[in-house]
Amino acid sequence: MTHFSANSPHARDIASVLHPQTHAGRHQELGPTIMTGADGIFVRDDAGNVFLDAGAGLWCASLGYNSERLAKVAYDAMRTLGYYQIFRHASHGPAIDLSEKLLELAPVPMSKVLLQCSGSEANDTAVKLVWYYWHAQGKPEKRKIFSRRGSYHGSTCVTISLTAKPDYHAGFGLPFDGFLHTDCPNYYRDALPGETEEAFSQRLADTLEAQIMAEDPETVAAFWCDPVQGGAGALPPPRGYFQKIQAVLKKYDVLMVADEVICGFGRTGAMWGCETYGMQPDMISCAKALSAAMQPVSAVLLNERIYQAVVRQSDKYGAFIHGYTYAGHPVCTSVALETLRIYEEMDLIDHIKSVEPVFLRELGALTDHPLVGDFSGVGLIGGLELVRDKATKENWPGEVGLGARIDQHARANGLILRIVGNRIAFSPPLIITAEEVRELARRMRATLDAVYAEVSAL
Ligand code: PMP
Repeated sequence: MTHFSANSPHARDIASVLHPQTHAGRHQELGPTIMTGADGIFVRDDAGNVFLDAGAGLWCASLGYNSERLAKVAYDAMRTLGYYQIFRHASHGPAIDLSEKLLELAPVPMSKVLLQCSGSEANDTAVKLVWYYWHAQGKPEKRKIFSRRGSYHGSTCVTISLTAKPDYHAGFGLPFDGFLHTDCPNYYRDALPGETEEAFSQRLADTLEAQIMAEDPETVAAFWCDPVQGGAGALPPPRGYFQKIQAVLKKYDVLMVADEVICGFGRTGAMWGCETYGMQPDMISCAKALSAAMQPVSAVLLNERIYQAVVRQSDKYGAFIHGYTYAGHPVCTSVALETLRIYEEMDLIDHIKSVEPVFLRELGALTDHPLVGDFSGVGLIGGLELVRDKATKENWPGEVGLGARIDQHARANGLILRIVGNRIAFSPPLIITAEEVRELARRMRATLDAVYAEVSAL
């Protein structure tokens, strides 16, 4: 039974809300943390506690948690044309303006933009476009899709199949057939003794090539990848990785889809992760920072090759038969457009570049801590790898409950963390200042110290 009084918001939450990514039974005991407001990058709960959320919510609150300017834009959009659809030749200004802007910003030449509401929808639709493309090429058997172990690409049935994390499939009878997984490029964990980053990358590309050969290249349609792997705990790729992978994809005519849902709009210190790593995808999915997370909006950018296939399929089937009610929603696209304007006005990339050295140095300095084996990062994204033994890289056993202890002590230190397996992933709001990064690192060290004192006494 819970200790919350009958009509408290906590009791009402327990009685009514099914929370995503939450242990349903334990929630009845623990209840919710109810957020009530924000001040810039700091959020406040109903008990008055103030937190620095080092994950920007779900990697998305790029401008912090409140904005008069975006509120005004949403309000005006609702008064002008609060809804219209973009099916069957219909359109409206915000959808056109945003699509045009995204094509202008695209890291490689892109032809069209397909608007929707979430990262999952964007990736789900991009899977359909991959299949549509190969059908249009007269190769319907080219259908299998590779993604990397540890990656997260969404929660719909198809995107969770792309997501190469067994615990996300368990109990659902997923993944679907035809979704195949290749190595996670974790150099710290998986490099052979003495292996350089380049050699490690080459070995992973060779493995992918062998997997494609084993499956038969004529059945392999696409490779899905986020530039920095969020789901693997904010893991940047090793040197040369994407160049070597792309060479394999090109050799076997396998499409590349870049999932920029986390990395898009500055996160890696360039507008796109694709720019940071020289990736040349056929399609890009993006969301999150596209609207500073203040409205649900996402997009798929597709190149001319894919677009021409859509034209051919429209001839064959009468139309491009796909679409969501809220695709291009005028309120969401207006807010996204204004977000992109804000990024331009604040020189977002310059700001990130100026804070990046402090971010990498301050968090990198935590590798001197006995609980930390490694740190890797780029721009304003990075991850700490936790170990029990730095020399052997041994993990803490599950029964120690290291993640729960870190979460609890972090909150006591005014810090909200995203813990992914053995890594703590950092992706603070992009407006974070150098001084706030130092504060983040101070709170992180205090948290690690408290947890270390506890676990070393076990
Ligand atoms: N791709 C990546 C890389 C993500 O991190 C996420 C969400 N964290 C998604 C896709 C799915 O986005 P959404 O939750 O908006 O559906």
